[in-house]
Amino acid sequence: MYELKLHMVNKRAILETVAEINYTLNQMVAQGCRGFECSRQSLEKLSRWRQDGVSLSETLADIRLDLGDCQRCKLAFGRKHIVFGKGPANAKLIFVGEGPGFEEDQKGEPFVGAAGQLLTRIIQAIKLSRAQVYICNIIKCRPPGNRDPGRDEIEACLPFLERQIAAIKPNFICTLGKVAAQTLLKTDAPISKLRGRFHEYRGIEVLPTYHPAFLLRNPEKKRDVWEDMKKLMREYRYED
Ligand code: URA
Repeated sequence: MYELKLHMVNKRAILETVAEINYTLNQMVAQGCRGFECSRQSLEKLSRWRQDGVSLSETLADIRLDLGDCQRCKLAFGRKHIVFGKGPANAKLIFVGEGPGFEEDQKGEPFVGAAGQLLTRIIQAIKLSRAQVYICNIIKCRPPGNRDPGRDEIEACLPFLERQIAAIKPNFICTLGKVAAQTLLKTDAPISKLRGRFHEYRGIEVLPTYHPAFLLRNPEKKRDVWEDMKKLMREYRYED
């Protein structure tokens, strides 16, 4: 499998470019051009890329670059910072929340407010540190008044999260709260039904649990989250 590391991230554009290069080189060969010869091997390689598609392995930096000063939805107008996500590019575990709140918007980092402090303790409870996991959200800009993200906002933002997940290739995703679970798993089922068991997203094990902000309001639910985290810890260790 040939891998191209490119800052250009539009797959269709790449395939079109490959097709054009392939065509041009073949034309030059057919017309007997000298000095531009391409080896038969390279021509075959290009032809294969054109037919089978190029396997893109983009990095988080590529994705961040493509996101740019994003204006793809109306949340761009009220935000201070885009909250892209934080953590190692090869994390085995990704936590996905809903969207940045006030503190996150101010700092440009996910889960740095009160809910974030609780998330830190949850991560420590499963014998990991924040530095070992990747933390991000379904949307990257704060909705006014911390309202739920709109469908249009999720639609605009989700492709970037999907690409981040594809780049990191984690073994596990832990979704925090209703919006993250329903969005990734493409379901309307309530979080109370989704949490506590593993689901699948593109070959990755997904464990939905309650959102830490919900736990701050409903501390009696912490017991459920602890049960969920024990399951996650067992599977995580098993994969080690
Ligand atoms: N709540 C979220 O869902 N994400 C954050 O980053 C902070 C609070």
